[in-house]
Amino acid sequence: MALREHGLSKDEIVAALSAKRTNDARWQDGRTFGMVYDGGESVHEVAEAAAVMYLHENALNPKAFPSLGEIQREVCEATASLLHSDTAAGFMTSGGTESILCAVKAARERGKAERGIAEPEMVLADSAHAAFHKAAHYFGVKVRKVPVAADYRADSSAMEAEVNDNTVLVVGSAPQYPQGVIDPIPELAEIAMSVGASFHTDACMGGFVLPFMEMNGHDVPPWDFRVDGVTSISADIHKLGYAPKGASVILHANKQLRGYQTFVFDDWLGGFYASPNIQGTRAGMPMAAAWAVMNHLGIDGYKRLTKLTIDARDRIEAGVRATPGLTVLGKPDAQLLAITADPGHETTIDIFALGDALLARGWFHDRQAPPDTLHATISAGNAPVVDEYLSDLRECVSEVAAVRVSDRSTNYATLE
Ligand SMILES: *Cc1c(COP(=O)(O)O)cnc(C)c1O
Repeated sequence: MALREHGLSKDEIVAALSAKRTNDARWQDGRTFGMVYDGGESVHEVAEAAAVMYLHENALNPKAFPSLGEIQREVCEATASLLHSDTAAGFMTSGGTESILCAVKAARERGKAERGIAEPEMVLADSAHAAFHKAAHYFGVKVRKVPVAADYRADSSAMEAEVNDNTVLVVGSAPQYPQGVIDPIPELAEIAMSVGASFHTDACMGGFVLPFMEMNGHDVPPWDFRVDGVTSISADIHKLGYAPKGASVILHANKQLRGYQTFVFDDWLGGFYASPNIQGTRAGMPMAAAWAVMNHLGIDGYKRLTKLTIDARDRIEAGVRATPGLTVLGKPDAQLLAITADPGHETTIDIFALGDALLARGWFHDRQAPPDTLHATISAGNAPVVDEYLSDLRECVSEVAAVRVSDRSTNYATLE
């Protein structure tokens, strides 16, 4: 479709966009287990007000927009304090992937500068997010990928066996995305330290959940800057930080380590160019909206949303396990879980047929494999509809008892 000759009015534009959206996931009803995380009415209002104020601003140069420099500083400081560091320094990015790209790039530069590594490698569990493979692809880092243990956590002795003099980075997740378990971060960070490599905790999902679970009295295994050897952490505000999309934080244990992430250039006709992350021109809107949501919720607000989330997780996990034919993989530590067919049951449910039946009732799950599972990222927005979900789930299980679907594709992310 070529660009239309004559422009549409605002009303026509809004009508056209509304029509386009009819088949989009219905996150506002709490029926979407991932992708959009709903912090409630007042969070929307605050985010929308900030977004409108900063819709046009550009964070490329905080000298032009000092407020955005301050917003970034305050967001990073608040995140560092939640992650128990007085020295951590970092930047806001557009999302978890960009934060991870920055961490991998920093580890590669550090390995080159401090250990003279020319052929950098990183050691990952096969549960580590695809963004690490993207980073490896972009930055020429070789991945040594290690199968997880039976409980889906990273297998530290198997990972130790893959570490060598070229290792610039070891990765652990808190929690990992596919099954929602927290890797043994202290053991993994120690393995990284044994060769002088960096260690990244991927807390894209857990960064704004685990601190509040701990405050709410849950036992949370160690994962943040209190663990010796953790050199960087990613935490996404646009996930369970409940901010609109386009906001994550990458923190390094100190400013010196942060220096390996940045790009400074002074040899073109445009003058001095310094860049904290991957972007050039940089939207101020998601930064301001994230600052607004964090300051609106505060610790109290996050503790309340985390309690709703973890209570909903408990009820969904128990409900799934109590449904004949279904079970949950591993023992989820936070807000994520994977629903799969119970191998001990007399008939095996086709989990993707179940996904189709749920989708027909408006419930959206990511599909993942291996093994075939329906993935759920649970957040406060799902809490009001847990009972309705579980009753639909039971009905769908009987509906699909004898159904097999031919489409085995999984769909965490797609191109078009
Ligand atoms: C979401 C996620 C990422 C990637 O973040 P994006 O914001 O989607 O780019 C990385 N790691 C984990 C564990 C995640 O859940």
